[in-house]
Amino acid sequence: MATDPVSAVNTGLFIDGQWGPSASGKTFDVINPATEEVLASVADGNGDDARRAIEVAGKKQEEWGRTAPRERSEILRRAYDLVMERADDLAAIMTAEMGKPLAEAKGEVAYGAEFLRWFSEEAVRIGGDMTLTGDGKTRIMVTHEPVGPSVLITPWNFPLAMGARKIGPAVAAGCTMVFKPAELTPLTSLALVDIFTEAGLPAGVLNVVTTTDPGSVVEPWMASGIARKVSFTGSTPVGVKLLQQAAEHVMKSSMELGGNAPFIVFDDADLDQAVAGAMIAKMRNMGEACTAANRLYVQSSVADEFARRLSEEMGKLAVGDGAAEGTQVGPLVERKALDKVQQFVDDAVSRGATVMCGGDRPDGKGFFYNPTVLNNVDPDSALLANEIFGPVAPIVPFDTEEQAIELANNTVWGLVGYLFTSDLERAFRVGERIEAGMIGMNTGLVSNPVAPFGGVKESGLGREGGRIGIDEFLETKYYALPRS
Ligand code: NAD
Repeated sequence: MATDPVSAVNTGLFIDGQWGPSASGKTFDVINPATEEVLASVADGNGDDARRAIEVAGKKQEEWGRTAPRERSEILRRAYDLVMERADDLAAIMTAEMGKPLAEAKGEVAYGAEFLRWFSEEAVRIGGDMTLTGDGKTRIMVTHEPVGPSVLITPWNFPLAMGARKIGPAVAAGCTMVFKPAELTPLTSLALVDIFTEAGLPAGVLNVVTTTDPGSVVEPWMASGIARKVSFTGSTPVGVKLLQQAAEHVMKSSMELGGNAPFIVFDDADLDQAVAGAMIAKMRNMGEACTAANRLYVQSSVADEFARRLSEEMGKLAVGDGAAEGTQVGPLVERKALDKVQQFVDDAVSRGATVMCGGDRPDGKGFFYNPTVLNNVDPDSALLANEIFGPVAPIVPFDTEEQAIELANNTVWGLVGYLFTSDLERAFRVGERIEAGMIGMNTGLVSNPVAPFGGVKESGLGREGGRIGIDEFLETKYYALPRS
């Protein structure tokens, strides 16, 4: 790549192995949230572009689905190597379009790349099963096939990892793809597309359409009858809409949706460990994560001490342009996000919460918000019932274990729950009763390519990563063979 990695990114649509303009010829601007400056103009795709892309994916499916697993594995492995080689450039692009500090962006590059390596290893281990019917008269041979052309849609908050987490298993399984990255952060995804081409992914396997009007692109894909699978990461309302559209053609669906993670600290917890865990669970990605600790329930006897220690740590964080040396907290992704966070804080304060630190935004350009700790938050405050998606930690004291479990489960979401205790029996007792797909026990980080990531309730369907991650892109078929 050239000296400025952003200007080296291809900004067209990528269909059938070719970069090109959108059918309308329109483009849209990508903004740096730290400076509010335009970084690049990207092709603004529409329904005509979408139809062209899904036709290509449909035509290419049979041939691609029959490629040797080792071939697909090695494409992924080469893509992994290239991503790691270009980690600095990819991180710089991500920081510029999304805001996260460079060190975090590099962490995401490594995390995202690991999905490519993991699924390169899974591609050659798809396997099957052979058994006899109970009466011994028939052999049952079970195989797994690619599910078919897949619609991939990603959010803006982890621009590289969310794409890699879908493209990795789809390539491993032998599915062709139509991919729509988020309009706020398309550049990282577009850079990743070039890496796949260089790694040897054949033309037509991965087709990418960027747009400012997601419905106009995704609806034709869902209605096409060609796509057999939708894999979506984003908000619950959009996920619900896509499930309704998927029903029309009974498409296999994976949904990684919103979260409202409870973070429970019992009075027997190691408080230093709990504070360190809260810093990660709250501040990773400036709080703009589906896994972010959204409600901190702390046992009354230690609540004030925990709030004091947490605000001390939060208050020390350096807020600034993610590209600048030493920055620990970058801007939020857009002005709308900043306004929403301020409204949540104002509402909590008007209901009696104590501001331990932050509670406001620094002056000047960019969508920055100061790291904030609120203590004694009223349980009816709006920020406890919604994803905050910002650097704000609301603390609610509780008295009994039963009360903590009840509070934790009082939400439509169920992505992740965190709990801190030194009592192993309690950790499992509480963990088993928290309605979530993932539990962090004495840790604030659950994301790992080796683990099955996903939620229950309105946080989603299916899992990404881990041993079962590839199943989302496979269909099961069995052959019955009489035995003489
Ligand atoms: P969003 O739902 O607004 O957008 C996600 C994607 O869906 C974007 O690409 C967007 O363009 C597209 N989209 C929007 N409207 C659409 C429509 N009508 N039809 C088809 N596609 C449409 O979410 P966001 O603001 O980009 O991301 C934040 C949300 O994502 C949060 O709710 C967060 O919790 C969730 N998220 C979940 C996970 C997870 O793994 N569970 C990971 C990251 C983010």
